[in-house]
Amino acid sequence: GADRPPVILYEEVVKRYGGFVALNGVSARVHQGEVVCLIGPSGSGKSTLLRCTNALEAIEGGRIVFEGQTLPTPALAAPVRRRMGMVFQNFELFPHKSALENVAIGPRTVLGTAKAEAEEKAQALLVKVGLADKAASYPSELSGGQQQRVAIARALAMEPEVMLFDEPTSALDPETVGEVLNVMKRLAEEGMTMIVVTHEMTFARRVGSWVVVFDKGRVVEEGVPKQVFEQPREQRTRDFFSHLS
Ligand code: ADP
Ligand code: MG
Repeated sequence: GADRPPVILYEEVVKRYGGFVALNGVSARVHQGEVVCLIGPSGSGKSTLLRCTNALEAIEGGRIVFEGQTLPTPALAAPVRRRMGMVFQNFELFPHKSALENVAIGPRTVLGTAKAEAEEKAQALLVKVGLADKAASYPSELSGGQQQRVAIARALAMEPEVMLFDEPTSALDPETVGEVLNVMKRLAEEGMTMIVVTHEMTFARRVGSWVVVFDKGRVVEEGVPKQVFEQPREQRTRDFFSHLS
């Protein structure tokens, strides 16, 4: 609810690459259990905001507050980063490890979980993402959708407070997009707090609890999906939607 402090608070966040302003004073908030969908044209700063949220990159102005604490600089952010699960467009699984090993390796190496326990947990997560029978398979033996579901399981293995998705289905064959979106929908229904950068407008509309529209490094509009999709207030939001169709 809006009366509780947000899990993530963005205050006037500024991110520059040299002279280029990628985030130009972004303010937003993400509450517990919300699925915040970031939409907007290519190059508008959506991925940059996720990378800054994960403290993979420093910001030049404003602040990002995660669970009440201002994010530290990237060099000091490993403990914070561990509490956020990041899922990228291209999965980035270890190619020479099985699906099970890919999921178990985080708990084993980072959390110090014993091998048997980490593998038991990994198997349960593979069941959760519908890959019970693929534990021994290597990434090259899996479809894109299956690899992405392994990547989601790998992120969940760290028991994150929030999941950050950057266009998780953009690199997939069309026939495997649905299986990944279904896993994400189920996570949302279980109450996972999620930020999802996506071009899947049906997902944003049906699963999103809040939609944030980016353009040129700024939030141009935000609201519940029904409002943003059915009665966009801003011309730039309407322009973005018209370019999609
Ligand atoms: P989106 O995810 O919305 O497509 P990005 O956040 O990837 O947009 O990029 C926003 C802008 O910042 C783009 O113009 C992009 O070229 C620029 N940008 C992103 N990363 C870098 C970087 N490492 N160095 C220079 N410019 C970058
Ligand atoms: Mg992007």
